[in-house]
Amino acid sequence: MSKKSEVTAKELKEKLFMQKKNAYLRMTDAEVKKCDKFCEGYKEFLNTCKTEREATAFVETEAKKAGFVPFDKNKKYKAGDRVYYVNREKAIILAVVGKEPIANGVNIVAAHIDSPRLDMKQNPLFEKDEVGYFKTHYYGGIKKYQWPTVPLSLHGVIVKADGSKINVNIGEDDNDPVFCVSDLLPHLAATQMKRPATEIVRGEELNIIVGSRPFKDDEASEAVKLNIMMLLNKKYGITETDFLSAELEAVPAFKVKDIGFDRSLVGGYGQDDRVCAYPEFMAVLGAKSVRRTAVCVLTDKEEIGSDGNTGLNSAYMKYFIADLAATFGARCRDVLSNSKCLSADVNAAYDPTFPDVFEKNNVSVLNGGVCVTKYTGSRGKSGTSDASAEFVGEIRALFDKNGIIWQTGELGKVDNGGGGTVAMYVANLNIDTIDVGVPVMSMHAPFEITAKADIWAAFRAFEAFITN
Ligand code: MN
Ligand code: MN
Repeated sequence: MSKKSEVTAKELKEKLFMQKKNAYLRMTDAEVKKCDKFCEGYKEFLNTCKTEREATAFVETEAKKAGFVPFDKNKKYKAGDRVYYVNREKAIILAVVGKEPIANGVNIVAAHIDSPRLDMKQNPLFEKDEVGYFKTHYYGGIKKYQWPTVPLSLHGVIVKADGSKINVNIGEDDNDPVFCVSDLLPHLAATQMKRPATEIVRGEELNIIVGSRPFKDDEASEAVKLNIMMLLNKKYGITETDFLSAELEAVPAFKVKDIGFDRSLVGGYGQDDRVCAYPEFMAVLGAKSVRRTAVCVLTDKEEIGSDGNTGLNSAYMKYFIADLAATFGARCRDVLSNSKCLSADVNAAYDPTFPDVFEKNNVSVLNGGVCVTKYTGSRGKSGTSDASAEFVGEIRALFDKNGIIWQTGELGKVDNGGGGTVAMYVANLNIDTIDVGVPVMSMHAPFEITAKADIWAAFRAFEAFITN
């Protein structure tokens, strides 16, 4: 007969196995209250900031109220000073000067504020069979079939020949009209439904309906287009040529909502990556005194690969850090080499309806806490920075010390697809970088899903990283 072990399997398992537990089972009632309150602010942010330009303007306004002033490379700064830098109205950096010498490095948190959407083409307005349309070119990775029959609002700017700029925001106010891409009725869609899913609606079929009443003149051709142009000329003083120097973006017009009887989830457009941007900037706003200089980056262009001078594959963040370092007489390369970065971006939340694409041991789940992603990429870790075990260990210890609810996750099964974030562009500057963000269900869809507990955990994680 075998001798019974002195420890039970249950005890041993508790000691040796990884413990995974739903965030709500680990939060006190008081913390759930704080979490829900925080998410009300987040929902307002989502409703107000649907584009990179709107997010930049909003953050600048809030930062000013919180004592941030425009960064001046000719000034001297001391611990506690708060500065910001706006890049072309599409990206913004906030910094809080730390007590330690800047040459010791800075703590960066970087999220992106652009989201998948439909951009208007340069020459967008046309009329076909007496319906007026805007032609679009989609921005970022979308499932094109998800975008027809969704009410859309128009956001952006029109720059006129004299250099003046008109801000456009139509479809958000309850009294505003909205816009829409049409789809075929099922009765006549037999042929359409045989197309491959990538082509159920093709890129050139994502035409947005913008009007249907003709200008009252029997002789004129393109009378619907003429009538629309007349209305736009009345409202904005523009002619058709002014579209050439415009950036108009169509995004879902609906508001953010709680999801579920228990209101535990947030549903809304553009949560990738504003669900990380908001906690990040709230954490920096609240950071009064920091040991290491904190740098909060809210960037553009992530959804199309981070290229372009407002994306993080450009030098703008490096130049900002170089200029800040110079005010202290420090060398930029020393600062960068000693810096650390949380690339604050979302990961795919496990979807119980579609379990096949996930590998269950390595996936983030709703209500599992903020997700730490060591590497992204695809085809054998291509296109990622892959954080070192040492840096993962450091972040793990920091989060545990601060009681932060966190999990790890990989973007789906190996070779099932993949994706990237800004992490590699920051890491390429010789900065220790790791992805830390909120899991999202239905990512890149017009209505994305996140869990309130994870959003709160992200805020606490960024706060701990900035103020540690
Ligand atoms: Mn993202
Ligand atoms: Mn994305």
